[in-house]
Amino acid sequence: MNYFSTRDKSLKFSFKDIFLRGLAPGGGLFLPSEIKKFNRAELNDLNTLSYKELATEIIFNFCKDEVSKNELKSLIQKSYNNFKNEEVVNLKKLGDINLLELYNGPTLAFKDIAMQVIGNLYEHLKVAKGKSVNIVVATSGDTGSAAIAALNNRENINLFVLHPHNKISSTQRKIMTTIGGSNIYNIAVRGSFDDCQKIVKELFNDDNFRLKINMSGVNSINWSRIVCQIVYYFYSYFRLKKNNISFSVPTGNFGDVYAGYIAKKMGLPINKLIVATNENDILERVISTGKYKPEKVKPSISPSMDIQVASNFERLLFYVVGQDDKKVSLLMDNLTKKGFFKLDQNEIQEIKKDFEAVKIDDETTRLIIKNINDEFKFIIDPHTATGIGAARKVKGIENIVVIGTAHPFKFSDTVQSATGINLEAPPHLKMNIDKKEKFDIIKNSNSEAKDYILSKLL
Ligand SMILES: *Cc1c(COP(=O)(O)O)cnc(C)c1O
Repeated sequence: MNYFSTRDKSLKFSFKDIFLRGLAPGGGLFLPSEIKKFNRAELNDLNTLSYKELATEIIFNFCKDEVSKNELKSLIQKSYNNFKNEEVVNLKKLGDINLLELYNGPTLAFKDIAMQVIGNLYEHLKVAKGKSVNIVVATSGDTGSAAIAALNNRENINLFVLHPHNKISSTQRKIMTTIGGSNIYNIAVRGSFDDCQKIVKELFNDDNFRLKINMSGVNSINWSRIVCQIVYYFYSYFRLKKNNISFSVPTGNFGDVYAGYIAKKMGLPINKLIVATNENDILERVISTGKYKPEKVKPSISPSMDIQVASNFERLLFYVVGQDDKKVSLLMDNLTKKGFFKLDQNEIQEIKKDFEAVKIDDETTRLIIKNINDEFKFIIDPHTATGIGAARKVKGIENIVVIGTAHPFKFSDTVQSATGINLEAPPHLKMNIDKKEKFDIIKNSNSEAKDYILSKLL
């Protein structure tokens, strides 16, 4: 099986290539040439598997040229050893809400689920044998810590994490800046997450620089992250035991909800994927009007979703325009040159077959956190709250599973202001985040980022 680019179908890459590169040459995103579709009988066979067994069966379809099933099985075992529960995730009932808790990993956010596997894949694929790999990643708060936890002290791997200065929660920042060893560099960029992501993309597109530092990426545009996230859509379906399942997904870069879209393509009977956004509502706007136009980022109480350029949307676009790579290139070109692109009515209808989008503002998010605590004595984080809010707002959709994306401790200040409750660190956060923080501040500039990275590699 090969991988190609959303902007050039003629390109052919192996899983190892796309794993390492993250972004396709010319700026497109990678997609697989085949997507395995399970029929009813095959789905039935997956029904009773444990989370780890299921993960092996699903992920194997995308990397079988590079990893044997047995190797993958032990890699997944190892990856999920340090999760709070054996089953990795947990489907919880709160009245009529089905909440899928994905924050039982070492850094308390769903990013751990993919990142732990990725850390071990770097080792398995022997990409850092003999020469060091430099991973550069942008984070809106949670990817960075998950990547650090997965790649800390790995031989021949350096990790550079760019986060928007002063625009993430203090607990998010402390987890990133206190746990890393000597191969970890935290960079606070004076700008937004979109600025950080733009810098990373531009460094990738600079072949000289990319080759010079043997650069690799683990942002949610890396296909392997999406692959690991497909698993819990299947798992929820088997545990909920309802046909016509839907999901409400707190969304920023469109990676998590896109994994649900691929699960549907793989034969999972998903009705709707509900895109929950905060006031950074580009996805809500594109789904209702067809116009994809990034605005200035508005800081919110769900900072991991403070994103206007939802990169993975390009992967949906590819299918929505009938797998026409020229059309995708044209639209993305418009975005760069004019600052927006527009979809026609047919394309909007195509998106609406699978997706709904709901915007939840900060005030409503706070109210939801308070109400859920009043009703169930259960604390949720502000991102998860947007998912619950969106699920409650849509009409006529049943059996919705809300994706719980972060542990509330990561957003203690917001939780306290909404409920008056002061949360303590959960025991599975094994790190001591009261240590001295280590990070450097740079301007929002490619050349400063390049100089910084090079200065550390001397
Ligand atoms: C990353 C993140 C999101 C958004 O996920 P995307 O894949 O970027 O859409 C939502 N909530 C939390 C807590 C996150 O860390």
